[in-house]
Amino acid sequence: MTLKRETLLVQTGNDREEPRGAVNTPIYLSAPFRHGDIGLLNGYDYIRTGNPTRDVLEDSIAKLEKGDRGFACSSGMSAIQLALSLFKSGDHIIATRDLYGGSYRIFEWFSAKYHLEFSYWNQDKGSINELVQKNTKAIFIETPTNPLMTETDLRFAADVAAKHQLLLIVDNTFYTPLIQRPIELGADVVIHSATKYLGGHNDVLAGLVVSGDHELSSRLFESQNTSGAVLAPFDCWLLIRGMKTLALRMKQHEENAKKVHSFLTAHPLVDKVYFPGQGGMVSFEISNESLVSPFLKKLKLFTFAESLGGVESLITYPATQTHADIPQKTRESYGLSNRLLRISVGIEHADDLVDDLKQAFDQVQSEVLVPSEDKKGGSHIEFIR
Ligand SMILES: *Cc1c(COP(=O)(O)O)cnc(C)c1O
Repeated sequence: MTLKRETLLVQTGNDREEPRGAVNTPIYLSAPFRHGDIGLLNGYDYIRTGNPTRDVLEDSIAKLEKGDRGFACSSGMSAIQLALSLFKSGDHIIATRDLYGGSYRIFEWFSAKYHLEFSYWNQDKGSINELVQKNTKAIFIETPTNPLMTETDLRFAADVAAKHQLLLIVDNTFYTPLIQRPIELGADVVIHSATKYLGGHNDVLAGLVVSGDHELSSRLFESQNTSGAVLAPFDCWLLIRGMKTLALRMKQHEENAKKVHSFLTAHPLVDKVYFPGQGGMVSFEISNESLVSPFLKKLKLFTFAESLGGVESLITYPATQTHADIPQKTRESYGLSNRLLRISVGIEHADDLVDDLKQAFDQVQSEVLVPSEDKKGGSHIEFIR
């Protein structure tokens, strides 16, 4: 019987031969596992190498992404670091230009410290081939991108990768395997910041990697077991628990995001809205930079905080938060301005979310915009750390 993804998610961990019949996955808080004799193990040896709770999670994500093997990492960044461990000094990687700020930071860091080379691609189909060099080894894609929500045609990217014998690595954090399955479209490695939608409750830091074939699985396993950035059993359990409701949550995130998108598109204080039509993330440009701080302060439901994908709605200011490590000039060159706000639409009632945005805009309109028009040039941001 091939189970649908919704069923796989809910049933995660319930089909194992748990000796005491526990329906919910037990948390195996044991670092070592007893050896029966020299060389005789009961499946487990030492917690870094393998743990039964982690196995449940890793099997689950591998099945959902239709990959060969899953790897649970201590964060999304350690998942990216694990993928980067497939390369060596002198290798060249092409990455999407619009990118999570932390990914940009680790790329720049690896380039300065370990001589991995990076080129940034503007996602224009016509320009990728000219970025390929003799030493190019991989294409790293975030789709949709964070925070400008540009989608990349993964089949096209997979064709380019195949033509030049490159690995295709995809950060699937925003869409999750419910919306997009990169391995089915030709990717070799999938990455998740599971801190976001997969965990879904803003209570756990975690990353996942899925390999597309056995050879990559062995290399990733060796690397992770050697470097040690695995996810602890309790965090694996929290993630499993969160993932069980992923399908329901994603439906609501998307439904709400569509309503927030319609509202923002029609609002006079909004210049531009970025929403790919699926998923729960919406970015928009407010009409004037000086409105950013007052607008954030007037919101009552949306929390001004730096993450996404949880049940609670969050709003982020990429320029000083998630993308502060990308130089302003670089950011602005591709459209990430100081007027951009990013919303992670939660699963509250959509009407309440729209009402909150509306009352914040109304207050900004009457209290800030009108008086400051008299003062002139009152642009300031109070949030810069
Ligand atoms: C948050 C995020 C990461 C980093 O994940 P952490 O779990 O915070 O380490 C990587 N990629 C994307 C797209 C993200 O949103």
